[in-house]
Amino acid sequence: MKKLTSIFCALALLAGLAVPAEAVRPDTVPVRFHDEEAGTYGPETASEVVGVFLDGEPMELDMPAVTQILSGNDGRTMVPVRPIAEALGAKVGWNAEKRKVSISTSLDTIVLTLGSAVAEVNGIPTELPGGVPAVVARYEDTERTLVPLRFVSEQLHARVDWDNEAFAAHITSGAESLTPADPSAPPDGRLTRLAADDNAQTITLYLNAQPHYRIIDLGDRIAIDLLGFVIGSGEDGSLRPENPVVNQVRYAQHGTDVDPRENHVTRVVLDLARNCTYGENVTITGDPELQAVVISVKPPETWVPRPVLPEDWDPAAYTVVLDAGHGGSATGALYEEIMEKDITLPITLRAAELLREKGYNVVLTRNRDVYVDLYDRSDMANSVGADIFVSIHANASPTNLDFQGTFTYSYPNSTRGEKLAGYIQAAVVAETGSIDRGLLSNDYVVLRETTMPAALLEMGFMSCHEELVKLIEPEYQEKISQGIAKGVEGYLATLPRKTGSTTKAGGALLPAKGK
Ligand SMILES: [Zn+2]
Repeated sequence: MKKLTSIFCALALLAGLAVPAEAVRPDTVPVRFHDEEAGTYGPETASEVVGVFLDGEPMELDMPAVTQILSGNDGRTMVPVRPIAEALGAKVGWNAEKRKVSISTSLDTIVLTLGSAVAEVNGIPTELPGGVPAVVARYEDTERTLVPLRFVSEQLHARVDWDNEAFAAHITSGAESLTPADPSAPPDGRLTRLAADDNAQTITLYLNAQPHYRIIDLGDRIAIDLLGFVIGSGEDGSLRPENPVVNQVRYAQHGTDVDPRENHVTRVVLDLARNCTYGENVTITGDPELQAVVISVKPPETWVPRPVLPEDWDPAAYTVVLDAGHGGSATGALYEEIMEKDITLPITLRAAELLREKGYNVVLTRNRDVYVDLYDRSDMANSVGADIFVSIHANASPTNLDFQGTFTYSYPNSTRGEKLAGYIQAAVVAETGSIDRGLLSNDYVVLRETTMPAALLEMGFMSCHEELVKLIEPEYQEKISQGIAKGVEGYLATLPRKTGSTTKAGGALLPAKGK
């Protein structure tokens, strides 16, 4: 390999891997860059090949790194995303629909949108140097996503030096501190101890100086950067607080002694449990007296159901419990920004209305956008002595986006449950004209824990665009509601007429698990 013969000169010339016009021009290769707006490849351009070295060794790339020049002479070095990310210890993810590439380590996530001059670094919009975005490029038979070399390397805490003579970029891994010097940060700050209290309601980060930190909300994670603090033990680590909100606390040191002007930073990451968020379930405060950062958790609120029998409760009528799938923080399937919980609710409410009109007692496990635990849903049905239970859901098949149709589930070996499922499946398919995928059985909580015949309808596939469009149409929803009501009515019509008995809600009289 070539030695860095004039690194100072090169560094002075180049602030951001910008390629000056007078640089020695190296080999060029014909590359076609994809135009995201036009959706096509642009014309072939003669692109200069850049040598890339990682910690002194030439990198093996599956497509050459090249310069891309947007305007004037201000070119940027673009490198295939996978080899550079993996070499720096990151994983690459790809969202084809949104045209996004993500580069993530256990601590950092960089999301680049093809054709966009703004990246997201740990959830924070960040302008790309020179406005040069990630781009798909084709060279010979190879197609790769190229990303700006310096930007990505520096975000992954590597340093990049430019060797102008050799027209090469030299990456030094793990060399950069997370933040520039912060004069107000304590000079010898240490994170001395992490502890969770007995109830696991608070997690405390003990320091040896006044807390100085910033919080980055990453959705399913929260990063707390302790500015000016190193880890007392000198070793990265983690803690399991064993509470329902924070699954794990991880800590790692970013600041190093490479450059004394750089600040020491320890990043503490809280991995949140499903449906938990910063603000709602986690609050973080600095306690100057304690010299600590205190993380308080609040478990997600669950609605404790108290079914109230309506005034017009008819002891001679059958009681139907309708269960609108998901709700509140439990969104269910999520496709094209549509949440399953928002489809199941209106269909359930309408089916309830239709059944009440037919004279049945109807109880809803939820009548609004609220989280209800699965066991609470079954308990509710059991406590009102319901005759049947119907849970209403929409399906998803992430691996086969064309798959559509209707299924109904019952509990394995529940003869009456299967009969109920059969009536609902047939009536919904007849009303909607959807593809009949038949009956299935599954050990779902709401099917298992309910003591009456129970069915779970999967109306259609949200993952299939064509069917999703139907599922949100009011006319189609009306057909499903009609189908559910007719299926319930059909099933109940096969049962002997209910007598005026008022003893049906007695818990001791409820049938055992043999449905
Ligand atoms: Zn569901």
